[in-house]
Amino acid sequence: MHTKTLSQLSALLHSKQISATELAQLYLDRIAASDLNAFLHVDPAFTLQQAAAADVRLASGDTTALTGIPVAHKDIFVTRHLRSTAGSHMLENYVSPFDATVVNKLAQAGMVTLGKLNCDEFAMGSSNENSYFGAVKNPWDTSAVPGGSSGGSAAAIAARLAPATTATDTGGSIRQPASFCGVTGIKPTYGSVSRYGMIAFASSLDQGGPIAQTAEDCGLLLNAMAGFDEKDSTSLERQPENFNRDLNQSLQGLRIGIPREFFSEGLAADVEQAVRNALAEYEKLGATLVDISLPKTELSIPVYYVIAPAEASSNLSRFDGVRYGHRAANYKDLNDMYRQSRTEGFGAEVKRRILVGAYVLSHGYYDAYYLQAQRIRRLIAQDFAAAFEQCDVIMGPVAPTVAWDLGAKADDPVANYLADIFTLSTSLAGLPGMSIPCGFGQGEKNAKRPVGLQLIGNYFEEARLLNVAHQFQQVTDWHTRAPV
Ligand code: GLN
Repeated sequence: MHTKTLSQLSALLHSKQISATELAQLYLDRIAASDLNAFLHVDPAFTLQQAAAADVRLASGDTTALTGIPVAHKDIFVTRHLRSTAGSHMLENYVSPFDATVVNKLAQAGMVTLGKLNCDEFAMGSSNENSYFGAVKNPWDTSAVPGGSSGGSAAAIAARLAPATTATDTGGSIRQPASFCGVTGIKPTYGSVSRYGMIAFASSLDQGGPIAQTAEDCGLLLNAMAGFDEKDSTSLERQPENFNRDLNQSLQGLRIGIPREFFSEGLAADVEQAVRNALAEYEKLGATLVDISLPKTELSIPVYYVIAPAEASSNLSRFDGVRYGHRAANYKDLNDMYRQSRTEGFGAEVKRRILVGAYVLSHGYYDAYYLQAQRIRRLIAQDFAAAFEQCDVIMGPVAPTVAWDLGAKADDPVANYLADIFTLSTSLAGLPGMSIPCGFGQGEKNAKRPVGLQLIGNYFEEARLLNVAHQFQQVTDWHTRAPV
C-alpha cells in the first residue's frame, strides 16, 4: 500500500477498498518505525481525528481527488495543532494561532495531516544539517545527506513515510533534496503558491510546492495548493488552472534547451552520464536538443548570497524573544536580553546570514553589494528570456554531484553554497523548476545515490513541465524505485 501514488490511493479510497483511517494508521506506523529523523512532530490522535472526518466525507460523496490522502508539511508552514519550529531552537515551542494558507487549502481538499517535517533552520542550507533537531538521513544511504533545506520532505517520500509532502524552495530547496532522494518535486512560478504562514526566509524568492513520487502526483497537489491569496501581497491573481491538463500530450517537436554552463567542469562525470542518458530518452520521445547559453550562471551564487541574506536579516529581526521565540533566562538589561536570546536561539548558519545581510544593507555598502546584486538578478532573468526564444524547456543537472556524506561539508559554508550553482538562477528569475529522478551515481558509494534531472520552464509553464516530466515517467521506472 505504501508504494501507491496519489491517484492510485484516491481510487482505492473512493471505491472503499481502504478507509482514510486505515491509510493514516498505516503511515503513522511506518513513521513510528523509522529512524531517519524526517519527522519533527506527530500527533496520532489528531491525525486519526482528521482521517475520521475524511471518512465521513468519502461516505457522503463530498470529496476531491485528494480526500483521505495523508500529507506531511515542512516545518516552515505554520499549523495550529502542531508546533512550527522552522528547524530552530528559537521556535522550539512555538504554536501558531493560525494555519498557513497551503495547510488550509490541503485540509479543505480533505487531506489528512501526518505531521511536520525536519528542515534546515529557517530553510537555510543544502544538507539538512543546519536543523537544530539534527540532520535527516538519506533513506538510500544513511551515511549520506538527504539534501536541503526540505530534506525531511524528500526523505519522507523516498522512504514511503508519506505519499505527499509540502516543501519550500528559495534557491533550490525543493529540487535539490528531491534530486538527492530520488523523488519528484516542483517549485512553481514565484507568486503561484501563497506565502502566508510560510515562515519567511527571503521573501522575494521563497516559494512553496509539493514533493511526491510522480509528476502526476505533484500536479494533483499543486492544483490544490496554488491560487490567489489576498493575505500574501506578492500572490498572483490568475484564473485557477488544472496543472495536469496536458499530461498526455506528445513531446514530438519539443525543443529542449541545454545550457552549456550547466555542463561545465564542476559537474561530476556520473551525474553528467545520468543526465545525458535522460536527454537521449527525450530524443526518443521526439524532442530535439538545442544548445543554449545562460552566461550569468556563475554569478547566481554571489548574487543569491547577497540578496537572500539581506532579506533574511530583515525577516528574522522579529525573533527577539519578545514578539516571538526563545527568551534567554539570564540577562542584564533590555539590550542584553535581545542579544542573549538571539545568541542562544539561532544556529551558526542563521547568524552568518544575518551578519552578511546586515552588512550588505548598511550605509556605504548598499550600493556596492545589494544594488549591484539586484541589477545582476535582472540580467539573469534576461538570460532566461533570451533562451526561451530558442527552446520550450531547459534541462540539466540539479546539482553538480550526488548526495555527499553526512558531515563532509558541515564546517564549510562556501562548499555548500557552491553546490547550489544550478538551482539558484531559476529562483532569482522566479521561474518554475522541477526535479525528476533519472538514475544513480557510479562507483561503490555513489551507485546507491540518486541523480535528478532538472526541468526549467518559462513563467506559468507548470502544466508543460508536468507534461514533459510525466512522459519521461511513462517510459522509465526511476521514480518507482525506492530504498524500502
Ligand atoms: N541552499 C540554499 C540556501 O542555503 C537554498 C535554500 C532554500 O532554497 N531554502 O540558502
